[in-house]
Parts: sequence; structure tokens; C-alpha cells
Amino acid sequence: MIYRDFQGMKLSMLGFGAMRLPVHDGNDSDIDRELTFRMVDDAMKSGINYYDTAWGYHNGNSEIVLGEALARYPRDSFYLASKFPGYDLSNMPKVREIFEQQLKKTGTDYFDFYLFHNVCEMNIEQYLDPKYGIYDYLIEQKKNGRIRHLGFSGHGEIDVLKRFLDAYGESMEFGQLQLNYLDWKFQHGKEKVDLLNERGIPVWVMEPVRGGKLAHLPGKMEEKLRNLRPDEDIPAWAFRFLQSVPSVTVVLSGMSDADQLAANIRTFEEEKPLTDPEMEALMGIVDEMMSGRSVPCTACHYCTSHCPQQIDIPRMIELYNEHLLTTEDGGFGFIAPMALSAIPAERQPAACLHCRSCEKVCPQQIKISEVMTDFVQKIG
Ligand code: SF4
Ligand code: SF4
Repeated sequence: MIYRDFQGMKLSMLGFGAMRLPVHDGNDSDIDRELTFRMVDDAMKSGINYYDTAWGYHNGNSEIVLGEALARYPRDSFYLASKFPGYDLSNMPKVREIFEQQLKKTGTDYFDFYLFHNVCEMNIEQYLDPKYGIYDYLIEQKKNGRIRHLGFSGHGEIDVLKRFLDAYGESMEFGQLQLNYLDWKFQHGKEKVDLLNERGIPVWVMEPVRGGKLAHLPGKMEEKLRNLRPDEDIPAWAFRFLQSVPSVTVVLSGMSDADQLAANIRTFEEEKPLTDPEMEALMGIVDEMMSGRSVPCTACHYCTSHCPQQIDIPRMIELYNEHLLTTEDGGFGFIAPMALSAIPAERQPAACLHCRSCEKVCPQQIKISEVMTDFVQKIG
């Protein structure tokens, strides 16, 4: 396992993300506890010592199941991270209540790492508003030893991150960014890393494979990468890219099954950063991908609880993208219509009320209501 130094600690560069744990029957709330325990055992054996959860993951159950899995190990053998759920504005006045509950849910009396979750355009005013006292409360918990290291995760654009850092940067010990080779350009990833570098804040990475989208590429792109490194799996390119960014300290991968975990562990057994020609080739592939037509949903599920129609928005966008890609060269797209036919009419894109509640919480700033309208038109 590759380790990175952080304030005298050795953190495994590969972190165990508990956002997409295995579930029963596709029910996001119903985590497969037995399999998760086995995966945590495999992770601990391989030397992974960083475990990341959050209030909202798996509708609140990630903190519980991950806490139970880790409770079987000595508390000083792992680092546990969780986050204040400011992606939902109704949580803003409840920092004390939520933090206390999080400690109970995870069965611990301190968090090694604690984050302001998803600093973005939608919540920056509230995060900075002293009337909610979020910052003051978290600093107090740090003084009390109930938070060992304070940081933030940010999906916002550069100006929002700058505002946040201007206000609280002195106390931010790490910053978690959505970073992968596609977002290096697509979401100004490089500029965000530069911003943290300027302030001496180490980078934690989320969405390294962009919700699984970089695990498989169109055939010709995969072929180019295989010609460069015949023995490297396609998903591993995403991690090799991150091993090439010096300030990246922890890379969180959402562990969905034992095979994925094992593959990630293999990739982090040794460092193999990209050479300059490899990096150039990868950026060429990014240019090709960006010129494609897909909506950049990461399936974070932040939007779903805000939809009055209970539309499974990330699934709809996934189908929309599939349909776009299949039909853009005149192909016959049958997968999306087939999948939609199994979904009740009241949960279909056509049931969208265009209320845009979902858009207010989308970290990717996707115009979801417009996607729904376009999907309906394209499906016919
Ligand atoms: S705009 Fe449509 S998809 Fe979004 S919350 Fe409203 S009804 Fe749901
Ligand atoms: S539409 Fe936005 S909020 Fe909803 S799952 Fe996709 S990225 Fe997340």
C-alpha cells in the first residue's frame, strides 16, 4: 500500500469510500452488511487505514454500518472521516444535534477527519453565516478533541472555494475535491488543485473514476491506453493519473464490491505515475470525451430526496446519456426505452413538474428539468 505523510501520520493513499456500498435488491438504504464487513476486513488487511462516510450516504445508513464494521478493530488502527451535511440547507441550524448523532451512529467519541460537506454555490452564504455557528461549533469540537482534523469537500466553482478559504482557510487542514482526468479540464480541476497548493492545503480526492464512468471508455480510447500500458486496467489509469499529482494525499474510491476493492488495492500496491507522453495522450482522450454529448451526473443522489415526484434522477440521466451515446451516430437506442417501460408512469421523466428543486442541490449544476424535457422528446 502506498502511504502519504500528513502531519506525522501515515495515511493510506487509497481511502475506503462508503458512499456506494453493496446493497440488497438495488435498494440504496439496504446495505449488504455482511459483504461490507468482509470488504472492510480485506481493506484493513491490505493496509487501508482511511475510511470515509457521511451523514447522507445510503440514506443515513452508511455511518451506522461502517461504524459497526470498524468497531471490530482497535480505534487507533484506522482513521474515520465524516461530514456536516450542508448540502441540505435545512441542516444548517442543526450542527450540534447532527454532530452528536453522527458520533452515536458511528459508535465513536471522535472523528479523525471531519469536513464541511459539499461547499458550493447553493450553500456558501449559509456556511459563512455566523448565525448558524457551524464553523465555531466545529472549531470548538476540535479543541475538545472530538475532531482531530478539520477540512472541507467542495463541488463549487473556484470563486466559491476562494470565498470559503478566505473566511476559514487558516483552519482548513485538507480539502477534498472532485478530481479525475476528465474533471482536470472539465470542472477546472487543475485550477482548484493550484488554489489549494497556493494555500498549502493537501488535496483529498473524491470521484476519482467519476462515478464509474472512467472505468470503461469507448473502444478506440481504451485501445490507445492499452497500447501505452498493456498490463494496466482501464480504471487504473484514473488512479495512475492521481498518483501523478504531487499534492494528492488520499484518494477515496467508493467501494461497491469485493472485486472492485481488490482491483483498487492492486493499483495502490506501487506508484506508477504517468510519464509526460502518457499524460499528453490521456489529455487527448479527455478532449475527445468532452466533445461527446453526455450529462456529467456522478450519481451522488443529493437531488433525489428533493424531487416531489420521487423520480430516480441519476438513473434517468444515466439512461438519457446511454440513449444519447447510442443514437448520436444513428444507432437504434433500445436500452433506455426498455428500461423506462419497467418504471411506473408517475416516476418517468414525463412526470417532471419542472419545479427545479433538484437543481438547487446538484453539485454538478445540471439543468435536470431540461434534461427531463429533452429525454421525453428524444424517446418520443
Ligand atoms: S424539476 Fe422535475 S426532476 Fe427535478 S425535482 Fe422537480 S419534478 Fe423532480
Ligand atoms: S443530477 Fe446532480 S445531484 Fe442528482 S445524482 Fe446527478 S450529480 Fe447528483
